[in-house]
Amino acid sequence: MSTTQPSSRISGFHKLSPDERLQKTADFAGLDADAVTHLRNMGNLDPALADRLIENVVGTMNIPLGIATSLKIDAQDYLIPMATEESSVVAAVSNAARQCYDHQGFQTSMSGTFMIAQIQLVQSPNPHDSRLRILERKDEIRSLCNECDPILVQMGGGFHDLNVRVLQTEGGPMVITHIVVDTKDAMGANAVNTMAETLAPHIERWTGGKVYLRILSNLADQRLARARAVWTCEAIGGPAVRDGIVSAYQFADADPYRAATHNKGIMNGISAVVLATGNDTRAVEAGAHAYAARNGHYGSLTRWEVTPEGHLAGSIEVPMAVGLVGGATKLHPTARACLQILNVQSAQQLARVIAAVGLAQNFSALKALATTGIQKGHMSLHAQNIAMMAGALGDEIAVLADKLVALGKVRVDIALEELKRLRG
Ligand code: NAD
Repeated sequence: MSTTQPSSRISGFHKLSPDERLQKTADFAGLDADAVTHLRNMGNLDPALADRLIENVVGTMNIPLGIATSLKIDAQDYLIPMATEESSVVAAVSNAARQCYDHQGFQTSMSGTFMIAQIQLVQSPNPHDSRLRILERKDEIRSLCNECDPILVQMGGGFHDLNVRVLQTEGGPMVITHIVVDTKDAMGANAVNTMAETLAPHIERWTGGKVYLRILSNLADQRLARARAVWTCEAIGGPAVRDGIVSAYQFADADPYRAATHNKGIMNGISAVVLATGNDTRAVEAGAHAYAARNGHYGSLTRWEVTPEGHLAGSIEVPMAVGLVGGATKLHPTARACLQILNVQSAQQLARVIAAVGLAQNFSALKALATTGIQKGHMSLHAQNIAMMAGALGDEIAVLADKLVALGKVRVDIALEELKRLRG
């Protein structure tokens, strides 16, 4: 018996309503009625807004929003909204923050709110001559850029600097122009991309070359957020724990296999706040990992040291391209509410808070790894997930999860057996 596969070539799909698209998707995939009803419920995001934010919308994806507590940052107390599907992330930040709360919490700073856009010029007859021709026009470039965004200029931002390099590539020399723009409270991707596109024909005219790419760089190394904190030796359980954390950091900084996981843990905290505030998680993640490899070796985003008093000093420096205006930050009602909870007055303040969260996350991960191991803390929430996977409902979930933890066997097969026993 042969079955004909439905076609994914659906003409005019984008012109349909979310509900009509959902029906077509359900027909294609053979979705059951429960799945369709579930997807049709868009929760607290207005379907009309969802339909404007991205293309071909059929539903929304709910992610838990948790609040990390005990954060004192630059002498101010914060509750931190975090959107993540991963258990233990919110607890890790809260625990780390609690352990340094009485020792001043976190101190932060920032290098500025500058974004870089790149313009790629190829086929330049004289690349070095072209480079100077572009640099000579800095004032004209400033005017052309600032004319693109009078609102940004009114906010005190706009064109800041110009750098031009001749880059040797497999395809020959390229002249790469960087415009550096102060994007203030905006993440700034659209702002700088518009400027780069506006400049492109002028650069071609000045040099006789051809421009291909005109786009921001996510390696936002002129938008570095920094945070540091000191955990007293007593507060964290003594010198063995302290030395274990320092050694774990040294391992990560020397070995990319370890550094990838070490930095992933940091991004557990960072991305959760970036997402909760409607900012671009991919932009921040790309920037963080590129920055971790900036010296040609992929290493740790954090540093851990022992102070002369024998305490543990942690620090982080990471590109943080986040905004309070633009993108989904102002449009998404959950993002707006999260920004209200954070009560931040500038993109810079938000970036600094997020850096502190990244450092806190790293502290907890390294402390767990250097002592009891990561699984112990994970287990109770993980056990609840396993209990639900086995079909536990309501009160059964906690009872079954406790049982799995007590048995030391947090596995679906055991959960199925135990659930059967529990139900008699
Ligand atoms: P945007 O263009 O929506 O808003 C920024 C604009 O808001 C500024 O240009 C300015 O005109 C105005 N503004 C008002 N008040 C301001 C203030 N106080 N400070 C600064 N500007 C103010 O957004 P954007 O920030 O330019 O772009 C962010 C979006 O671009 C994100 O959604 C991101 O996902 C997306 N994006 C990212 C990439 C990437 O990272 N590679 C590429 C393209 C687009």
